[in-house]
Amino acid sequence: MTDLNEHLIKLIKLHGPIPVSSYMTEALTNPKYGYYVNQNPFGKSGDFITAPEVSQMFGELIGLWFADLWLKMDRPLKVHLIELGPGKGTLMADIIRVLDVLPEFLGVIDLHFVEASPQLIEVQKEKFHDFPGNKSWHETVKSALTAANADDEVTFIIANEFFDALPIRQFQKGDLGWHERMITVNEKDDGLTFMLSPFPVQDVKLPENLKAADLHSIIEISPMAEYLTAMIAEHFKDHSGAALFIDYGYNDYRTGETLQAIEKHKYANIFEKPGYADISAHVNFRKLLDIAGHLGVKTLGPTTQNEFLSAMGIEERVRILTQTATPEQKQDILGALVRLVAKDEMGTLFKVIGIISDEKLDAAGF
Ligand code: SAH
Repeated sequence: MTDLNEHLIKLIKLHGPIPVSSYMTEALTNPKYGYYVNQNPFGKSGDFITAPEVSQMFGELIGLWFADLWLKMDRPLKVHLIELGPGKGTLMADIIRVLDVLPEFLGVIDLHFVEASPQLIEVQKEKFHDFPGNKSWHETVKSALTAANADDEVTFIIANEFFDALPIRQFQKGDLGWHERMITVNEKDDGLTFMLSPFPVQDVKLPENLKAADLHSIIEISPMAEYLTAMIAEHFKDHSGAALFIDYGYNDYRTGETLQAIEKHKYANIFEKPGYADISAHVNFRKLLDIAGHLGVKTLGPTTQNEFLSAMGIEERVRILTQTATPEQKQDILGALVRLVAKDEMGTLFKVIGIISDEKLDAAGF
């Protein structure tokens, strides 16, 4: 039993069952026991590998995506580049390195990082120590957007594997309606277990097309992902800019459970080791695009990571990198290519969406 198990059991015994969203928040970002606060999740020795950790090509192509937009926007004189959930900072470091090819762009960038983990903030500060421009760290997306508020300034936002870490709520269909899935303490062995709210929920708007779903079906929603997307889209109604979100997810309103725990590259029970396993859920990109679309900004995608990276020229990047590589490096680069784009790897499960302020602006990659 982990410290967080004990903390949650005590909490539930005192205050009653908690929704899945509170469990996720505690498991990931509890200031003392949270996973992102205490663990070093990334890389081969960690629990999972994200695309930027697979290869520098990923961040470089994203850097070029923003560079292309900056040129098409007639080289604005100030850009706020905001990253949501930067992890070890690898993605941003690759973006910045590739922008050496366009120093005029690099020179007008202020960096902003939105990060919940004090430990990861330290890692990021170390990494960007030598970045000559302004850089700041924010606890919330709102704070980062507020900093990027001047009229003639541009806001670029990147988020890779950030939305999947945001808390979801789950609802299960019963005879009388949809009940919220809660987490309580099992009286038999004093462990954590699921239960349903005793009464169907009244005040939650669930997708219309799922109202007739089968008994016991589960629906997931991520109020925080929806709220942040709306906030970003609102920002783009008044300010020029673009956002790119990349994550594993789907493109429709569907039933089914995607909440998962990963420890050391393997699926784990979500209750077994809270604080020591990564807990995440697939992202409903359809919902995020619908929200942004309704707010009147331009939306792109979803496309798959495979299609996006291919359209951005990953094959060409591989060709260039392998030209000067040793046979061993060449094998690594080709292995990374497979990992990023193959259909049975990250290529199709991972999706890319874009949100853009200006209807007339054409972005690459989609
Ligand atoms: N983008 C990185 C890391 C992904 S892991 C990569 O691709 O490698 C998720 C990141 O989001 C971590 O940095 C984690 O600490 C951060 N994070 C998770 N929940 C957050 C929240 N609610 N607010 C801010 N950052 C959060």
